[in-house]
Amino acid sequence: MDYDLFVIGGGSAGVRCARIAAGHGARVGIAEARFWGGTCVNIGCVPKKFMVYAAEYGFAAEDSRGFGWNAPKGTHDWTTLLAAKDTEIARLNGIYKRLLEQAGATIYESRATFIDAHTLDVGGQRITAEKIVIATGGHPTRPEIPGAELAIVSDDAFYLPAMPKRIAIIGSGYIGVEFAGIFNGLGAETHLIYRQPLPLRGFDEDLRVGLAEAMTSNGIILHPDIVPKSITETPAGKSLALSDLTVLDVDLVFFATGRVPNITGLGLDAAGIATTNGAITVDANLTTNIPHIFAIGDVTDRLNLTPVATAEGHALADSLFGRKPRTVNLENVPTAVFSIPPIGTVGLTEAQAAARGGARIFLTRFTPMRHAISGRARKTLMKLIVDEATDKIIGAHMLGEDAPEILQGIGVAITAGATKADFDRTIGIHPTAAEEFVTLRTQTRVVGPDIRPE
Ligand SMILES: Cc1cc2nc3c(=O)[nH]c(=O)nc-3n(C[C@H](O)[C@H](O)[C@H](O)COP(=O)(O)OP(=O)(O)OC[C@H]3O[C@@H](n4cnc5c(N)ncnc54)[C@H](O)[C@@H]3O)c2cc1C
Repeated sequence: MDYDLFVIGGGSAGVRCARIAAGHGARVGIAEARFWGGTCVNIGCVPKKFMVYAAEYGFAAEDSRGFGWNAPKGTHDWTTLLAAKDTEIARLNGIYKRLLEQAGATIYESRATFIDAHTLDVGGQRITAEKIVIATGGHPTRPEIPGAELAIVSDDAFYLPAMPKRIAIIGSGYIGVEFAGIFNGLGAETHLIYRQPLPLRGFDEDLRVGLAEAMTSNGIILHPDIVPKSITETPAGKSLALSDLTVLDVDLVFFATGRVPNITGLGLDAAGIATTNGAITVDANLTTNIPHIFAIGDVTDRLNLTPVATAEGHALADSLFGRKPRTVNLENVPTAVFSIPPIGTVGLTEAQAAARGGARIFLTRFTPMRHAISGRARKTLMKLIVDEATDKIIGAHMLGEDAPEILQGIGVAITAGATKADFDRTIGIHPTAAEEFVTLRTQTRVVGPDIRPE
């Protein structure tokens, strides 16, 4: 066999797995068809966050006036932002590639497909490996409506030649609400169209209500309970027909309607690899139905986040070559939505906690210090969900500036099994918003399977 391990895909999951396995002394090959670092580095988390920062500066300039700055309403140059983003990403691509080379992995800048369960075609070359890891990630989908090809998806949003003046974003998952914040903050007339009554399906209801209010206050035009019907090209841009029979005239339509695993053309049948609903089926050890073939990250479509993908890559490499067998616990994974303002969340939502048993809810909404003077009508929302039987914190949610930064620490506390009493005896850091998490004393309500929240 040419390699002990061959990894297909050089994204968050694959790079980590290949690098750690090579560090353990395995003979490792890795193939990447497009760009080192994968979705997160090139067309995901990283460039998205640069764009969120760019949008936030527009709000910050306005907010500074309450503090005495005479900041004029400036204009934004899209080309400058994209060039700066591209320079930084080129640097990161180089780092990812170097890390692999320094670890001793052999890199292939081409597509890999299965010929049989131990053999791959890698850019026309036949390569054999004892073990194979599939880490091919996912890609955005488009709804099947007339004119769907006229819309863009998130992959395209990072390379637009110009900023649209009017944009309609379809879908209010985290990618939809994040890009709504970006384009709105950069000055576009922004419409967010979604089929649910509130954005961010699956998140805690109070966060969803708070986010809808904040987005409206920022000037985003929300279209709840609506689905798109068709898109047509017009001399002035695009015409988007909606299920409520209204028509929106915009420059750009953006589908943020979900992602699916990259399995097409991989030759899974040649190796006999099983899938479930279009995702590669794995057990708790990330093993497919073929004992020497594994799958990690978004291609398994469980919890599609970069830190999960890297944790899986690392755990698998340690298990296979480091004599440290371990699995990744997908419970209590903290996560963020980089909307404006952002969300940080970990553990159960109120509805999940209520269905599971009795839970005590502590909720606060307040004007953060910054906006007491900035004059911006923006509230911060913080919420703790406490298990009635054990007093353990089983959910923590925040909408407001710095929420993702704050929730990382709360994630540690919840992972360690902290109780409400532990939070109560923790001294706060003053003056911060974060201190509210340790000074929440008044219970807002109790919920349970038989108790409906008011
Ligand atoms: C717009 C957007 C924003 C996001 N923001 C966040 C965020 O803020 N926080 C967060 O945690 N997560 C975020 N994510 C999710 C995150 O990017 C993914 O969870 C993560 O990249 C998954 O890593 P992966 O290695 O499984 O797949 P990927 O990073 O997608 O890597 C897969 C790689 O495999 C390559 N490949 C595919 N097929 C082949 C083949 N046959 N041969 C060779 N190579 C192949 C692809 O080119 C790709 O580079 C975001 C995603 C998007 C789209």
